[in-house]
Amino acid sequence: MASHSLDIEPTVRKTDDEWIRSYCVCPVCKQDLESVQGGLSCRACARIWPILNGIPDLTVVKFAESNSFDMRMLAKRDLSALLNFAASVYEPWIYPIVSRLYGGWDGTSTLKRLGQDISDIVGPRGGFILDAACGPGTYGRRVASPSRTILGIDICMSMLRQGVRYVEEEHLPNVHFARAAVEALPFRTGLFDAAINAGSLNHFPDTVLALREINRTMKAGAPLAVMCFYAGGRGIINSKSVRERAEKRGGHIFELPELERYATEAGFEDFRPHTYGSILVFSARKTPAEH
Ligand SMILES: [Zn+2]
Repeated sequence: MASHSLDIEPTVRKTDDEWIRSYCVCPVCKQDLESVQGGLSCRACARIWPILNGIPDLTVVKFAESNSFDMRMLAKRDLSALLNFAASVYEPWIYPIVSRLYGGWDGTSTLKRLGQDISDIVGPRGGFILDAACGPGTYGRRVASPSRTILGIDICMSMLRQGVRYVEEEHLPNVHFARAAVEALPFRTGLFDAAINAGSLNHFPDTVLALREINRTMKAGAPLAVMCFYAGGRGIINSKSVRERAEKRGGHIFELPELERYATEAGFEDFRPHTYGSILVFSARKTPAEH
């Protein structure tokens, strides 16, 4: 990995009009977008989606009104410097601590290890890979290759800008970012050859809705790779106060059978879990239509 800059100034990146117009659609009505001054316009509903510092903003969520604590925090403009700083230290500093707290102090759940697990699930396939709630492209960058296009979305612009910096430092030309919510993805139905969702499944108000929207954008039989937290094994998540605090903030701590049921309800099959303390990596496949 390249060294990480603590510079919190926004990185201006030219928007690659071609990728947006080829793969992105309106997150509301899923119709084509066209370029307009300063952004994109939906041909069907005429909504305008701005492009900020080269990153299209396709969020439909009203953050300030969300029942999620984390979402409301994202709406506070005076926190932007703090969010920029958090984005810059997320992989080098925050990740190692969180992975030990939740995965156990034996250190088996390193980002390298988790990245390898996710990469194994995605497999050698080329084409298009969705990194849903990508942060700074933490896993999408790690599975990037010349034969794949990685499309990463997240609701936190600070994380996306950090992702753009990493992609430039690491010379990854085919990793792109857009600001969007997992529940309203700005991508065509059946686009992706694989999908990743790492570190955010515990935060969605409606887990099945989020998984179902990821499922919609995938090809039949395509693999889904998820990293999330669950109740079991070692790790701080088994502490009652930690679980209560997470749930009070709008998060969910899953039991394994519950999570498998959610995946099935959302249109996935072949649920395969692998655990490190309270960290769960699971794979599943989009159920083919003829089932
Ligand atoms: Zn529209």
